[in-house]
Amino acid sequence: MFITGERAGRKYNVKPSQVFVGVGSDDVLAMAFLTFFNSDKKILFPDITYSFYDVWADLFKIPYEQIPLDEDFRIIPEDYSKENGGVIIANPNAPTGVFMGLDGIRAVLDKNRDVVCIVDEAYVDFGAESALSLLEEYDNLLIIQTFSKSRSMAGLRIGYAIGSETMIKYLNDVKYSFNSYTMTSLTLALGVEAVRDDEYFKATCAKIVKTREKLKTDLKGLGFEFQDSKTNFIFAKHASVSAEHIFTELKKRNIYVRYWNKPRINEYLRITVGTDEECDTLVTNLKEIIAQGEK
Ligand SMILES: *Cc1c(COP(=O)(O)O)cnc(C)c1O
Repeated sequence: MFITGERAGRKYNVKPSQVFVGVGSDDVLAMAFLTFFNSDKKILFPDITYSFYDVWADLFKIPYEQIPLDEDFRIIPEDYSKENGGVIIANPNAPTGVFMGLDGIRAVLDKNRDVVCIVDEAYVDFGAESALSLLEEYDNLLIIQTFSKSRSMAGLRIGYAIGSETMIKYLNDVKYSFNSYTMTSLTLALGVEAVRDDEYFKATCAKIVKTREKLKTDLKGLGFEFQDSKTNFIFAKHASVSAEHIFTELKKRNIYVRYWNKPRINEYLRITVGTDEECDTLVTNLKEIIAQGEK
């Protein structure tokens, strides 16, 4: 843990004592919920966001309120000014792919100086901007990142939080009273090597971004609509064929995208950016499904 903490510290220009490492960011998020979201006041997070936030809130008996995104799936910072017990935002958000600029994050932090605001940056490496630069100014900011997405190392389980030394100390206090040694030495060694190989990391991120931009063009050409994505997926809706129909047809052809039959998002598909070949196969099949669906 300290090895990776030191590495991450050097990489991000923060002290090792400002880094908390855990078994994937899900573990880090759970620890952060336990440590910081413990008043009787509601914590706030968007109505459409990472599906684990309400699960943990329920599990840990933390009261919460889901704040609606606007029609374009954007977070409205002003909506986070009501009294609360903490805030958690995924930026870019999932499954929408929408990124809120640092002005927005700053606005949320300014309105919430007395509570902890977590920014979950699971997808930040695919072309978004991290809030790391705001850390010096805001001691209420806790940033959480993961090796599971942009580093393609989900199976190794490495996640981490960066924040003030005080917050990281509290996180460690909770963790050590729960389960002290959660990461294997092999995981730590491989994590360190992954951080060292910055060239490979940058190349793979750039590759995904390039494929994503091409896929955006192709999807638009097929009549899909979506907000701009800064992640490794696109959350898209077709102008005339239902998402459920497309989802079912793709599944028959062994192509898997994600679909949620939930209010506000039941006309959307979350399409992961695969390899160039995979995306081409997807587009070819979508073309057929849409042509049939529109008849
Ligand atoms: C994938 C994801 C995580 C958790 O990933 P780990 O594998 O546990 O690091 C956390 N938050 C968001 C928004 C995610 O998409």
